Formats: sequence, structure tokens, C-alpha cells
Amino acid sequence: MPGESGTRLWHPFADMAAVDGAELMLDAADGCWVTDADGARYLDASASLWCCNLGHRVPEVNAAIAAQLDRLDSYSTFGDYTNAPAEQLAARLATLAPVDDARVFLTSGGGDSIDTAAKLARAHFQHMGQPERLHIVGRTHGYHGTHGFGTSIGGIEANTSGWGPLMPHTSSVPYDSLPALEQELHRIGPERVAAFFCEPVIGAGGVLLPPEGYVEGAAALCREHGVLFVVDAVICAFGRLGTWYGIERFDVRPDMIAFAKGVSGGILPLGGVVVSGEIAQPYFAAPGGPILRHGPTYSGHPVCCAAALAALDVYERDLLIPRGQQLEGDLAAVLEPLKQHPAVAEVRAGLGLLAGIGLTEAARAATPNAPGALQRAARHEGVLVRALPDGIAVSPPLTIAQDDLRLIGDGIAAALDALV
Ligand code: PLP
Repeated sequence: MPGESGTRLWHPFADMAAVDGAELMLDAADGCWVTDADGARYLDASASLWCCNLGHRVPEVNAAIAAQLDRLDSYSTFGDYTNAPAEQLAARLATLAPVDDARVFLTSGGGDSIDTAAKLARAHFQHMGQPERLHIVGRTHGYHGTHGFGTSIGGIEANTSGWGPLMPHTSSVPYDSLPALEQELHRIGPERVAAFFCEPVIGAGGVLLPPEGYVEGAAALCREHGVLFVVDAVICAFGRLGTWYGIERFDVRPDMIAFAKGVSGGILPLGGVVVSGEIAQPYFAAPGGPILRHGPTYSGHPVCCAAALAALDVYERDLLIPRGQQLEGDLAAVLEPLKQHPAVAEVRAGLGLLAGIGLTEAARAATPNAPGALQRAARHEGVLVRALPDGIAVSPPLTIAQDDLRLIGDGIAAALDALV
């Protein structure tokens, strides 16, 4: 009887009937390795869900969490309340960001941050006397989390369908075409567009690198038409592309940057939006001005912020941020040979410490849910990777030893052999 036995835990993005009873029960972690309940060890080649950029059980972060729990464990920053870790974190993140006169709004994760940025974009134009600027444009294959706006501007068909009508005044353009973006702005009427949301490298949608000049071109088009250029750096920030926010790899100044995941080393839930001074200014200008009637209970949670401050210290002290760029060629070199495998259509790598391995149509037709099967086969080889729509993604912690990159390549090669 359903519900009589089995798990009571409903997993995100899971075929629960298949997962129930076949879970990978994780029990412990250390650095880039995790151990299951039977004692088997796995190399965490996905940094959990692209977030544990420092690896696992980082002593400085654990110590900061324990110290903060012993001081001020929890309090909201609703209204006029504040706490030192939240203030310090916002100041540090604002200073590091390639955004003019930045302010930082803190949230509980990436989806929160995207919806915050979308509402801020619309509110901005309400204040500017352009209330018709409502439309938000995303990209095909884009992933922006599972909240209302993030679902609506996401470009992965399987995630956007099945819910009935989504948020009005949203659309997606082909992820790699500037002419398509320009056409879409004209189709809607540029004076009706509030913002364009852009992942520097598309993550969950496939690890899709932008064509040369795309990001700069999109930012220029936005500027030309008065549209806000919003970067979704939830995956790409905190060293994944070798810089603080990922977007510094391109010559642009965003109006907002949404971040999460690696900000706390992926250890506690935390996200936020870096907002340009121009957008934030009306809210800060004078008492009696506009109020952002928006924000989660745990905005500025002192323990999450203390964890993030310690994570930033470790990124800085151990020179981990540039490692995402230093290792990008090594990761690509380890994965390139997989192109020779008959099941592999392409290896997408070379910008940051992340990569996508796309399976051929024949391989995908031959095995039901081939990406999921490949993820399980890699697990059997002791390597944790993450399924993509057309294959698998690799995004190890920045702390991974250069030699261990080879273990990832070897594990995936063996998994591919097991698949066909
Ligand atoms: N944006 C991007 C680019 C993401 O990859 C994700 C999550 O993977 C999100 C937003 C949503 O973040 P969260 O899962 O913390 O809500």
C-alpha cells in the first residue's frame, strides 16, 4: 500500500516511486569526499549541487557557526533590526561586486534571490514613472530556481510546463543569439521591457558557454534600450568561474547580481542580490520614501551570515577564487578524451571549473533517462556527478587536488562504458 512503508521524504526533482528504497544514503563528508551509510567513499565531483566550493567540513566555517550559535543564534533583520554578521557580510559583498555603489539584499537561497531581483526590476520602473516596463526576458536552457519568477523566466521546457499559466510578461530567447534578443526587445517594445536575466555560463540547463561576445553584446543591447541587465551568478560566483561573481570574466557592469550557493561555501542556506546604487537609491534617500515590501524571515540570519564571512575568509586566505580559472584548462584536458567515446556528442568545458558532457541522441534513445543512468553509473565508479537534460555536469569543489581531476575523467569513462 502506498504510504504504508517507505520514505516520508519527498525529494526535489525526483521520480519518487523509483527513488523510494533506492536512495543513496549519505552519512559523512570530508574535503572533496563523501561517505555513504555502508562506508563507501565517493569523490564529490558536483560539490553537492554546485555549491560546496570549499569542500566539506571546513573547520573555520564550522567554528564560526558554533561561535555565532553561542552568541546570537537567530534574529530577523525585518524592519529596523540588524546584527553584526549581516552588516559585515553586506559590506564585504558590496565591495567585491562589479556593481556601482552597491547595496546587498540578503535572502535564503537562489530562487529567493531571483524573485527579489525580478520584483526589484519592476518596482524600479514604477518609481521611474515607466510602469509599463514589466516584461522580463530570460534565455532558453536557463535555470533560475523554482519560485514564481524563476520558473517563468526559466528556459528548460520540462520545468516550465505542467503548472498552467505562469507569470505574465515573461519570455525566453534562444540562449546564444544576440539578434534573437534584439528581435524580442522590438517584438515586445523596448519601452515595455524591465530586465534581461542572464547566467554567465548556463548551469543546470546544460553547462552552455556563451558564444564569444554574447554577454557583452547582451549587456550593450540592454543599455541601449534602458533594460536592466541582471546576472544570475548563483552557480558562477564564488570562484566557479575564477572570480568573485563570475561576471568579471566579461567586460560588463550589471545592474543587479543574484547570488547564493558558494557564498556560504554551500554549508548553510543563504543568498542575496547585489543591487546598483541607482536602483537602491529611492529606498535609501529619505524617510517616508518607498519601502520594499518583500523579504524572507531569514534575511540576514546571523548564523548563515557568520558562516559566509568565514567562507569568504577561507576563499581569500587559500587563494581559492582564481583556482576556478587556473584549473579550467586542466578539467577540460581531462574530459576532452571522452569525446572519442561513441556515446558522447560533446564535451562543454573551458570556462571555469565546470563542464558538461552531452550524450548522443542514439545513446539517449537507447537508455531510458540516459543522463540519470550515467549519473548512477558514475556513482558506481565512486564519482558523484549531476544529471543534465542531455548528459551530466561536473563541478568539483575549488579545493580539489589537480591529480584528483583525473579520477573524475576515469570514473566517467568507465561509467560511459557501462552505459553502452
Ligand atoms: N539560479 C541558478 C543559476 C541556479 O543554478 C539555481 C539552483 O541551482 C538557482 C537560481 C536557484 O537556487 P536555489 O536552489 O538556492 O533556490
